[in-house]
Amino acid sequence: MSRRFFVDLPITSETATLTGQEAHHLSKVMRAKVGDELILFDGQGGEFPARIAKIGRSEIELSVIERRNISRELPFRLVVGAALPKGDRQRWLVEKLVELGVSELVPLVTERSVAQPSGNTLERLRRAVIEASKQCGRNQLMAVGHATTFNSFLAEATESATKLIAHPPTPDEGATSWSTNAGAAIIAVGPEGGFTEEEIALANDHYWTNVSLGTRVLRTETAAVALASVIALQYKSSE
Ligand code: SAH
Repeated sequence: MSRRFFVDLPITSETATLTGQEAHHLSKVMRAKVGDELILFDGQGGEFPARIAKIGRSEIELSVIERRNISRELPFRLVVGAALPKGDRQRWLVEKLVELGVSELVPLVTERSVAQPSGNTLERLRRAVIEASKQCGRNQLMAVGHATTFNSFLAEATESATKLIAHPPTPDEGATSWSTNAGAAIIAVGPEGGFTEEEIALANDHYWTNVSLGTRVLRTETAAVALASVIALQYKSSE
C-alpha cells in the first residue's frame, strides 16, 4: 500500500505522468529508478500497477501495466457536514473521514462557527484527502465541498437519506434510534460553540434526527468521526 501514487488526471491510456509533489516524493525521497514498479490511482475508481519509464526533472513517465477496478468504498453514500475545527484538527478530521469511507465532507458555516474555510484551506484539505487515500487504499477520492451555510445544507439534503444531527443530550433525553436502510446517510456536526437551539429546531423541521453520542462533550472532530464510524459499520453489517 505504501507505494501508491496519485495521478491528477484520469488514466485512460498505457502511459501516465506523475508531476508535482508526487513526482518529487518518488524520485527524491523514495529514490526510484527506471524499471521500478508501483501502484497508481487517479481517484476515480481504478488502480493501476505501473512501471517507471523515464525520470525527468519535474515529471516521471510510467507505463501502465493494467487497470484494476478495486473498490474500497462503503456500500452507500455517506456525507458529513461539519463546522471545521481549527488548525491541525482539520487535517486530522479529513484523514479519519477518508479512512472511514466518507463520500463527501461539506464544511458547514453555522451561527457559532469559528473557522471560515478559505480557498487555501480547501486546497490543503484536498491534499490531505490524497495523502490519506494513498495510505488507506481508497481509489475514489472523498470530495471536499465548498463552505456551505447550515440552512443551505439542510435545504439541499437528499430527501430519502437518513439525516442525523449530532447534538449533546439534555438530561431527560433517552437513546436515539434511526433507520439504516435509506441507501444514503447525511450527518451534521456543529462547531465548538455548538448548534443554536434555532438551528436544531430547523433541522428537526427538515426531518433530521438528533443523535446523542453520550454524556461527555466531544470536540467537533471526535463527534464527526464517532458518528461516521457508527453509521459506516451499521450499514455495512446490514448489507
Ligand atoms: N459547547 C457545545 C458543545 C459543542 S461540541 C455545547 O455545549 O453544546 C461540537 C459539536 O460536536 C456539537 O455541536 C455536536 O454536533 C457534537 N457533539 C459533541 N458532543 C456530543 C455528544 N455528546 N452527543 C452528540 N453530539 C455531540
